Amino acid sequence: MNTILAKAEQTHQLTEAELVRLLTDPDATVPLYAAADRVRQKYVGDQVELRGLIEFSNICKQNCLYCGLRRDNRQIPRYRLDGETILEFGRRAAELGYKTLVMQSGEDEAFSPERLAPVLTELKKLGVALTLSIGEKSREEYAALRAAGADRYLLRIETTDKALYEKLDPGMSWDNRVRCLRDLKELGYEVGTGSLVGLPGQTVESMARDVLFFQELDADMVGIGPFIPNPDTPLASADGGTFDLACRMMALTRLLLPDANIPATTAMETLQPDGRMLALQRGANVVMPNVTDTDYRKMYMLYPGKICLNDAPADCRSCVTDKIMGIGRTVSQNQGFRRKHRSER
Ligand code: SAH
Ligand code: SF4
Repeated sequence: MNTILAKAEQTHQLTEAELVRLLTDPDATVPLYAAADRVRQKYVGDQVELRGLIEFSNICKQNCLYCGLRRDNRQIPRYRLDGETILEFGRRAAELGYKTLVMQSGEDEAFSPERLAPVLTELKKLGVALTLSIGEKSREEYAALRAAGADRYLLRIETTDKALYEKLDPGMSWDNRVRCLRDLKELGYEVGTGSLVGLPGQTVESMARDVLFFQELDADMVGIGPFIPNPDTPLASADGGTFDLACRMMALTRLLLPDANIPATTAMETLQPDGRMLALQRGANVVMPNVTDTDYRKMYMLYPGKICLNDAPADCRSCVTDKIMGIGRTVSQNQGFRRKHRSER
């Protein structure tokens, strides 16, 4: 196993069988995390990128079985921020020092590119990089949003098991999701993808293929989160993923995509106190604190147990900064675009 890890650390290549071994062998845990931490240090350094997350609508036309925002969930009140409120949250985040804003929502058709474009243009005047995470759109819509100022896009593939994806995301097509990712790349976005870990019916082999998929796509960002069963969904009684397995997936992603931006995800911290700080020591280099007002946070319930529900944006920023400094790292002061190490890949 140490041979496999040494190879991964030097060549950034692993086979599916080797990935499965590292996902399952109990003896792999400690050396895998240490290798991912070294690769993170070598390629992206000790600075942690902070991205301010604005959850601007919890209205969704999709019905993903795992997600609390699914359209059939009648248990949550729905909201949609107007442009001025989004701008206000953006301004406050910029004042707090954020250099990147991530705008996330359900697939809310009211936010057409025509409606979003002026908001993006105004937000760009704050001198921030802009990331969108608003689901599947046509190539033309992605092009219009890019022209309006969006720099990056997050769209998790969720799982590379096509049959499982289409079972869990009824009415959606896995091929279309891949089409979206390819269009986004071609349009010049920095593209983030990622997967859920611990979905019912997900195999460890398919998780290994998830990591190979991120590498094949040459993803600029990869967010891995444990699946956390939501009581308001059809998967309420499923088992869910573990913190450890999510960390292994993340560490392997660092080994295969050494210069990618990899967040320590909020869902990880839901399962493990200080989980994001542990993740930062196992391959991650990004944290995405919430900059949405507390009134709305409670309604943006993808999964139960969401952290920091009652904290104001300024509190989240200082809390996360203190924790980052507490593990001997620093907060980046720039926009945190991916710095590709072409010669070493
Ligand atoms: N609608 C957009 C963005 C919002 S959902 C989209 O689907 O791309 C953002 C992410 O939340 C999803 O990609 C999914 O991976 C995650 N998510 C949804 N339900 C979850 C759950 N029960 N546990 C953990 N993560 C979940
Ligand atoms: Fe909607 Fe995204 Fe949740 Fe699916 S994962 S129901 S698309 S918010």
